[in-house]
Amino acid sequence: MAKQVPYKIYLSESELPKRWYNLRADMKEKRDPILNPGTGKPVTADELSQILVTELANQEMDVTNRYIDIPEEIQSFYRMYRPSPLVRAYCLEKALDTPAHIFYKFEGGNTSGSHKLNSAAAQVYYAKHQGLTHLTTETGAGQWGTALSMACGFFDIDLKVYMVKASANQKPYRKAVMETFGAHVTPSPSNTTRVGRQILSKDPTTGGSLGCAISEAIETATLTDNCRYVLGSVLDHVALHQSVIGLEAKAAFEQYDLYPDIIIGCAGGGSNLAGLIAPFMGDKLAGKRNPYFIAAEPASCPSMSRGRYAYDFGDIGRTTPLMKMYTLGSGFIPSPNHAGGLRYHGMSPIVSKLYHDGHLDEARAVEQTRVFEAACTFAKHEGTLVAPESAHAIRVAMDEAIKCRETGQAKTILFGLSGTGYFDLAAYMEYQNGQMTDFIPTDEDLERGLASLPILPK
Ligand SMILES: *Cc1c(COP(=O)(O)O)cnc(C)c1O
Repeated sequence: MAKQVPYKIYLSESELPKRWYNLRADMKEKRDPILNPGTGKPVTADELSQILVTELANQEMDVTNRYIDIPEEIQSFYRMYRPSPLVRAYCLEKALDTPAHIFYKFEGGNTSGSHKLNSAAAQVYYAKHQGLTHLTTETGAGQWGTALSMACGFFDIDLKVYMVKASANQKPYRKAVMETFGAHVTPSPSNTTRVGRQILSKDPTTGGSLGCAISEAIETATLTDNCRYVLGSVLDHVALHQSVIGLEAKAAFEQYDLYPDIIIGCAGGGSNLAGLIAPFMGDKLAGKRNPYFIAAEPASCPSMSRGRYAYDFGDIGRTTPLMKMYTLGSGFIPSPNHAGGLRYHGMSPIVSKLYHDGHLDEARAVEQTRVFEAACTFAKHEGTLVAPESAHAIRVAMDEAIKCRETGQAKTILFGLSGTGYFDLAAYMEYQNGQMTDFIPTDEDLERGLASLPILPK
């Protein structure tokens, strides 16, 4: 007889992953190389390590080792807040009157409120081992800055965070949390960097963007001794660290002989999605299983569903190496919506490649008001106040579950619940007051952003 599936499946400490899974090793077609914008030639790990922590630059280039050992100190950090539960959403299923079996992997159970701590812990550990004393980064909604502040507090590293100004104004308490862990927070654009001053002189009232905050953080990292820049999403090594999400989820499913038919994640820079899907995608690429993968993105910043697959910069200041990815152009400044973590012009090169080659089946853009409607339904029936980013995945999961009701199919749906939304109450208030709007860029808006795509040197 099949075992009754509990509301929450937790792995024991001894069952936690001891190795990250490097999906790139199992991709027959590798993602295109990262290019030096000056020469148009592939960058080397040496070049990358001028900006990035050396071991992270090495991981970025490693497309062949299938498994990478998680150092003991990082495993020990993970044990403070992992495993995260795989939850069966029985109450939501009942409310939707659906035959679907809905599961979510909940990454919000730590103070940063999101999955980002999985990579922050790893990145800061490697920085410490390299003997670095300072790090810089950017943060949009604040989850990455908080996660990194926690890891820097733990490993005793000085951290400077450039926080997108619009978010800093919306979420003053985020700043307080980061400062509690010892970080220094500067709203971006700021007059502390050359690129920040340039942007302010053109547009003094701008609320900023992730691309702009990245430029400021990189400039500061290159001008500070013993300092590197670290990034909370997009890059392959971040996706690698996030594979703990998928590895735990797959192991938890296996305990009940289950396997998801549909797997959904929200996609900003693509890291929680990449981490959640990694081992399942490995099965698909090996021809063992065939789950249907959906990336949920905001209609206001539709990098995959309406972007172009092209080489682009990671930042508006055009300082990063070039990555081949789905992008709206580094010059695209998305309208201020409430899913700060999804307001990024580009997309993880791995996720982009999987989508381009048809392995990641679908990118679905969803409007903000429908996203908050899903978030409120979820809060009532599952008892968790979710991050607006995560609510994009919930919207899509609910829509799939409603389809199951109409067709009578009992599909198993897994979605990534990437974080909690306690700092997003201004957005919830706007939704409750009926003041929330659905901004969808026109084709002309998108053309303007795409016009900023670089021309590769010959
Ligand atoms: C940052 C963030 C995201 C988006 O980032 P990805 O790299 O696409 O995962 C999604 N959800 C939450 C809660 C976040 O903090």
